[in-house]
Amino acid sequence: MMRHAHSFWFLLVFVAIASIVLVSILHEGFTDEPTVVKVDNLMLGTLVEIQAWAEQLDDSGLRRAIQEAFDEIRRVENEMSVNIEGSVVQRINESAGQTQVAAPASLISVLDSARQVSELSGGAFDVTIGAVYHLWDFASENSAKPPEPDAIARNLQNVDYTRVEVSATSGTVRLPTRGMRLDLGGLAKGYAIDVAARALVGAGVHNFIVNAGGDMFVSGRRLNGERWRIGVKHPRHPGELMYTLFLTDRAVVTSGDYERFFEYNGKRYHHILNPTTGYPAEACQSVTVVAQEATVADALATAVFVMGPKRGLELVDLLTEVEALIVDADGEQWHSKGFGQFLPGSSPGSPWPRP
Ligand code: ADP
Ligand code: MG
Repeated sequence: MMRHAHSFWFLLVFVAIASIVLVSILHEGFTDEPTVVKVDNLMLGTLVEIQAWAEQLDDSGLRRAIQEAFDEIRRVENEMSVNIEGSVVQRINESAGQTQVAAPASLISVLDSARQVSELSGGAFDVTIGAVYHLWDFASENSAKPPEPDAIARNLQNVDYTRVEVSATSGTVRLPTRGMRLDLGGLAKGYAIDVAARALVGAGVHNFIVNAGGDMFVSGRRLNGERWRIGVKHPRHPGELMYTLFLTDRAVVTSGDYERFFEYNGKRYHHILNPTTGYPAEACQSVTVVAQEATVADALATAVFVMGPKRGLELVDLLTEVEALIVDADGEQWHSKGFGQFLPGSSPGSPWPRP
């Protein structure tokens, strides 16, 4: 009798302790499970989305880190946009042919990246394209028409990246000739993406995507441990994906003739200009570049678009850790030597898998 009572109490206490332990395991399991947070904002003339998850941060900590990244993007935009009143780039343009303008280190660094890609591409990429670019109206869709050929020819004389005077030591920039104009639209978005990515990493976030209208940096992995999946749009079939890339710790940027363009007399005029002619570059429909930094990927995508598939791929294959996928003007696909590594079921150096 005594023995039975004993074991009854023993069992009761055991069940009670066991259920407390079980509940606390479950509870802990739920609260510590990281979840993906997604936030978007209209910035850089597009929708910027950041999605991230972090093991070490709770929801509010993660949201704070994402907000800091957006603040950084805003700061870059206010500095580098030609459309924002009082931006440093606008002041540099207004002072063309006159004084030098004090420029923050970030702008000096972007101009340095721009010059490198200009040199690599033999001038296909040129941020002084602004002198001609401002004549074009790619915002009004199909009510727009090309500028007068005279105006293009006159302003083309002011397109020459070698004449931009950048002093890293004194932190100044000067355009020596009236009519010269910077336009950082070819790489500033990439730079803003890099800056946001660095802010996230600095805040202890290592798994994320910073996506600025399809141009992005992906870091770490998805919650399930797989690589992030990034779709590459078909340049002629809106809403259709050409490929899905599997990426980690890489920037991927696409330049296409389908994002901002108008048609006039049955011809498509889009926003990537050939600095030699002042007219839209004609060799490609889209160029996707994968690189270690979005600044470089952005500038190279624009450069390769102007250079065309042959010269463009020669350049890309020369650079380490840079790969490209090109759809040329006839819709033919080209790719750099190592591009296949980003496609499912393939490993670096394996043959190009067909879709
Ligand atoms: P987005 O990602 O904004 O669609 P891209 O990265 O392809 O654009 O760059 C296009 C932008 O770059 C244009 O809107 C213009 O501001 C600028 N641009 C156009 N042609 C050139 C060029 N040849 N070199 C450098 N910048 C250019
Ligand atoms: Mg670009």
